[in-house]
Amino acid sequence: MDRNDKLYGLWREQRGACFYCDGPTFVSDRESKESARRRLRIAVGVAGAGKHLNQHVATIDSATKAMACKFCNCSREGKSPMSHRRSIQSLVATDQHPVNRLIEAYADGRLSWSRIDLVEPARSTTTAEP
Ligand SMILES: [Zn+2]
Repeated sequence: MDRNDKLYGLWREQRGACFYCDGPTFVSDRESKESARRRLRIAVGVAGAGKHLNQHVATIDSATKAMACKFCNCSREGKSPMSHRRSIQSLVATDQHPVNRLIEAYADGRLSWSRIDLVEPARSTTTAEP
């Protein structure tokens, strides 16, 4: 199993939600930027939109081997996973986290409240893959 398959497997297991912020992520070689942008409600042409989309990229966290968004993964700076999760969750609680955030303009709450529905047909109820 190569690294990308491993990442995608984790992403599916975690239903797209980052280990640290519970925010929605995307796997860049499985979903087009255009589709991710729509799903993650990132407006095109707004300053910082490219960077914002990039923060949602799914990565593998080296400390936990779990899937984490790029923002959380890149901001850990050697903190233990539990203390990083605590500090990330306090960002989320005060709406300062770029990935797990409220969508004020749409008045439909926090983006991560609805986790991804897998678009692929479920092969079985087990997550085990050959
Ligand atoms: Zn995150």
